[in-house]
Amino acid sequence: MCGIVGVVSHGPVNQLIYDALLLLQHRGQDAAGIATNHGNMFSMHKANGLVRDVFRTRNMRSLPGNAGIGQVRYPTAGSDSEAEAQPFYVNAPFGIILAHNGNLTNWEQLKSEMFKNDRRHINTDSDSEVLLNVLAHEIQQATTGYSLDPSALFKAVSALHKRVRGSYAVVAQIAGYGLLAFRDPYGIRPLCIGFNETDAGPEYMLASESVALEGLGFRFLRDVVPGEAIFIDLDGKLYNQQCADNPLLSPCAFEFVYLARPDSVIDGASVYATRLKMGEYLAEKIKRQLSTGDIDVVMPIPDSSRPAAMELALKLNLEYREGLIKNRYIGRTFIMPGQAQRKKSVRQKLNTISSEFKGKSVLLVDDSIVRGTTSREIVQMARDAGAKRVIFASAAPPVKYPNVYGIDMPTRNELIAHGRSDEEVCREITADALVYQDIDALKRSISDVNPLLKKFEASCFDGVYVTGDISRDYLDRVEHVRNNPKPVSEDAVRSQLNLNLARAD
Ligand code: AMP
Repeated sequence: MCGIVGVVSHGPVNQLIYDALLLLQHRGQDAAGIATNHGNMFSMHKANGLVRDVFRTRNMRSLPGNAGIGQVRYPTAGSDSEAEAQPFYVNAPFGIILAHNGNLTNWEQLKSEMFKNDRRHINTDSDSEVLLNVLAHEIQQATTGYSLDPSALFKAVSALHKRVRGSYAVVAQIAGYGLLAFRDPYGIRPLCIGFNETDAGPEYMLASESVALEGLGFRFLRDVVPGEAIFIDLDGKLYNQQCADNPLLSPCAFEFVYLARPDSVIDGASVYATRLKMGEYLAEKIKRQLSTGDIDVVMPIPDSSRPAAMELALKLNLEYREGLIKNRYIGRTFIMPGQAQRKKSVRQKLNTISSEFKGKSVLLVDDSIVRGTTSREIVQMARDAGAKRVIFASAAPPVKYPNVYGIDMPTRNELIAHGRSDEEVCREITADALVYQDIDALKRSISDVNPLLKKFEASCFDGVYVTGDISRDYLDRVEHVRNNPKPVSEDAVRSQLNLNLARAD
């Protein structure tokens, strides 16, 4: 997953995009980039690192213009080199910059097709560069002999939907013309639009999550509909069109479990409210499976599980306590590379308040169990702090299958629940008991909040890939690439050196 933002305003947008990226920082901490449009020119700055580290005053000054896009990256495809930080730029036709959240499942095929048929060279292993070139090619086709206007852009997006598979929420800027945004026909990754009335006319912002709009004083207008394209010209005039043949809203269930901020509303469902519901349903399951009279205290594993844990404690009429305290100045552990680093960072990130554990039977609630590293460490920490009994509950069902739509859950053998029963997972994480949410209950937690949401991309739980193109072969290939990483390129080393030099000043 990544965070994206696009703005068309009547004044400078650099600070606005920077602030929006800060509000989306939880969606990716690996790289950040901003590109702005002034006249017919683009300016861009991007690098590996957190937003606050990537942009210095001099970088911000070099980003003039009243329209632009930005991205925070969480790497899922390609490598984590700086050359693959977004936005990406292509000079023909017209000059286009693009930022993308998602993952194209047919990017390799498209890359070779582009070279053979479209005579386009892709210089990285990033699916976003492929996506930009497909868009550029289709805009070229749609405008050859015709003028560049919104209907030509919508025709290009329609053609793109026919070629591209996977998940993609996109913002793209066309030099001197305006901002184009679109969402894949299943609406897997989120994208919403807000506006603000100014004396000079309306200004618009598109962003991955509503929290970016609200935090910056924009009024939430609506979610971008799956398959829909929106174009806003530099005067602030908005055009839109459905560009997919059979759009079918199937938002990613994991956004509600963990990825999104609780204060965001995605596809009409408050993320916070869905997490409360997850707690309610999980409480019912715990009541069915365990004798709750033996539990002394319910405790969240900060932060994402807190609403579910609170509601669960309320429904079970159990005491709710905070016994694990998070160091806020350490990034999300899963974003760091390598299992060893991940393991170490759990203890760096969380500390126990022993008095809350000593002699007690503790029910720990987490949003999900992915690799199991965090849960195992936390169970041990609870025992070290004196817990008499440690019960573990997951607000999400077992993560059994890899995610191919932009979440880093790559290989089956890395997922603790793959090929293991709940009892086996319980033994692996060394808990005394383990209760997982049921998949139907998870889906109901979201559709109870917005009954219009009926279908979800929940492949990591149920192995059903909504785009219909994911075979066993495909998963094997992804795993092979993951298990045999390319040697670090000179480019990546150079980027890292540049980054370190930039940080030294
Ligand atoms: P672990 O089971 O050690 O992978 O850690 C799982 C915890 O990390 C969950 O409770 C989430 O808070 C968080 N998490 C969410 N998504 C991921 C992911 N893709 N990979 C690893 N951890 C994640």
